[in-house]
Amino acid sequence: LPHQQRLRADTPPLDDDELDCFKPFDGHKPIYRGCIDTQLKRVLDDIDIHGCEANGENAFFVADLSEVYRQHLRWMRALPRIVPFYAVKCNPDPYVLQLLAALGTGFDCASNGEIEAVLKLGINPARIIYANPCKAASFVRHAATHNVGLTTFDNMDELDKMKRYHPSCKLVVRILTDDSKSACQLGLKFGAPLDSVPRLLQRARELELDVVGVSFHVGSGCYDPDSFRDAVYRARRAFDMGKEAGYTFDLLDIGGGFGHDNFEMVAGVLGPAIDRYFPDDDFAPGGKEVEGKLNGLRIIAEPGRFYVHSAFALATNIIAARRGEPSPVGAIVEAVAPTKPQVMYYQNDGLYGSFNCVIFDHVTVHPKVLTLGFEYAYRPDLEAPGSEDELQPCSVWGPTCDSIDCVRALVHLPKGLKVGDWLVYENMGAYTICAASTFNGIRRSEVRYTLGAGEDAEVVRELMM
Ligand code: PLP
Repeated sequence: LPHQQRLRADTPPLDDDELDCFKPFDGHKPIYRGCIDTQLKRVLDDIDIHGCEANGENAFFVADLSEVYRQHLRWMRALPRIVPFYAVKCNPDPYVLQLLAALGTGFDCASNGEIEAVLKLGINPARIIYANPCKAASFVRHAATHNVGLTTFDNMDELDKMKRYHPSCKLVVRILTDDSKSACQLGLKFGAPLDSVPRLLQRARELELDVVGVSFHVGSGCYDPDSFRDAVYRARRAFDMGKEAGYTFDLLDIGGGFGHDNFEMVAGVLGPAIDRYFPDDDFAPGGKEVEGKLNGLRIIAEPGRFYVHSAFALATNIIAARRGEPSPVGAIVEAVAPTKPQVMYYQNDGLYGSFNCVIFDHVTVHPKVLTLGFEYAYRPDLEAPGSEDELQPCSVWGPTCDSIDCVRALVHLPKGLKVGDWLVYENMGAYTICAASTFNGIRRSEVRYTLGAGEDAEVVRELMM
């Protein structure tokens, strides 16, 4: 049987009322109800691996929007006082933005392009923080024209720029905090050391600029909750510096860096740290609500990864394999893998595409078997079906002609995998599509959507109508 028919054999067709056809964005497919694995299978069923046109078997993402919704519930449960401003850079998917807009989050934009993507959804510019401390002058003018009135800065030149092109903008001083316990250390590039803050604030005052608060970013992929406690403490010191400079700060922006696995632990440290270093009485004696701000202090955050990491899975097709001969392994493989891979698999998305996260985001990705010998074999709880002696050491490579394009130097996959079979990578929502290139003429992987299943799907559907 052709691969496609075998896959189709046990796939029940969807009823018409299960198809939720929102008006799709250009180039995007309509959204279906069902879990990620149902949707993966649906897409595979439509692919004729032996007869499709060029690009017909392209790698593709499945995004479960209900997972984004659940992450939002998780946020609100753990940090109800802190308003999330989703970091668009992490994954600017239009459906994700639309859902988050409906859920009432704000947006952290880093460029005019991101600002436009958000405004296009009809979002009020008051819900945007332009959280890039080093902006192009033309982007600042663009922000002014579009009434984006809140931004970060961390240096003198930026103050001059703001005075010249957007003098009424409210400013947030981004301070340097300890990012040594994070996968991506943003402090190498951004953040004013505390001892430089008084001079910056003095200059801001001379320029009659309106500095309203303090922000920080503990680094993306932060694995130590104490980094947040320490950063909140430093932010408090910057607040006091603001007072000395004659400002009354009322905005604390605790940035991003929230992971998927340790989120509740981080929240458990953050809450008490904020209570301790920002006691209510300092902001509104008597604990009253002042101008819509609980206790006079408004706290926002810029989570990116937290919202989308687990909502996207990526399916790739094995387009070629090299077996039974010593692998012409390059230096990367030699360095990382003392066990020699016996098979080199080539798949149709790689480091120049969605797997750029291997380089930029310092992650190790984990292929799971989606089809084995053309049979659907995906078990979300298992890396590979079969027993240990049915596995063999392999390497996985991307589709380009560059040898840096190595997705995994060593991974154990079932012996029965064939060219034409599919792999799937879970947790691919953050810092993947957004930085993918089309190097070598390879298209970016497209996204297929699902609303999820059950009650969550209903809520998401309502929100997105
Ligand atoms: N805010 C700023 C200014 C950033 O640069 C980033 C990521 O680089 C984020 C927020 C999002 O960080 P994360 O995805 O770790 O939450």
